[in-house]
Amino acid sequence: MKGFFSEFREFISRGNVMDMAVGVIIGGAFTAIVNSLVGDIIQPLISGLTGGGEQIGLVVNVGAAQLNFGAFISAIINFIIIAFIIFCLVKSMNKLAEEAKKIAGKQEEAEEAAAPICPHCLEEVKAGATRCPHCGGEIPGGAKSAA
Ligand SMILES: [Zn+2]
Repeated sequence: MKGFFSEFREFISRGNVMDMAVGVIIGGAFTAIVNSLVGDIIQPLISGLTGGGEQIGLVVNVGAAQLNFGAFISAIINFIIIAFIIFCLVKSMNKLAEEAKKIAGKQEEAEEAAAPICPHCLEEVKAGATRCPHCGGEIPGGAKSAA
C-alpha cells in the first residue's frame, strides 16, 4: 500500500496531471464558448437568412421518426470550429516549444564555451580556481574562461 501511494504522489508531482486538469477545465469552458457561438449567433443567423424557425429549419419526418438535420449540421459546424481553433493552438504551441528549445540550446552552448578546463585532466573547473577539484592538479595563474 505504501508503494502505491508513493507511486501516486510521484505521478501527480510529475506535473502531467496538473497539465491535464488545466486542459480539461479550459477545454470545458472553451466548448461552452463554441456552443454559444454556434447556438446563439451562427444558428439564428442561418435561420434568419433562410427564414426558418429558432433552429436551422431542417427537420424531415420519416413515418413516426423525425430526422433533425438542423441539429446534425450544428454539431458538424461545432466540430469544424473546435478542430480549427485547436489546430491553430497546437500550431502556435509547437512554434513556441521550438523557439524555447533553440534558446535553451544556445544558452547551453554559451555556458559550455565559457567554462574553463583543467590543463591536467581536461575536466571543467570554475573560473579563477587555482586547484582542480577533479584531479587536484594546480592551475598556474588560476583557471581562465575558454571564451
Ligand atoms: Zn584536473
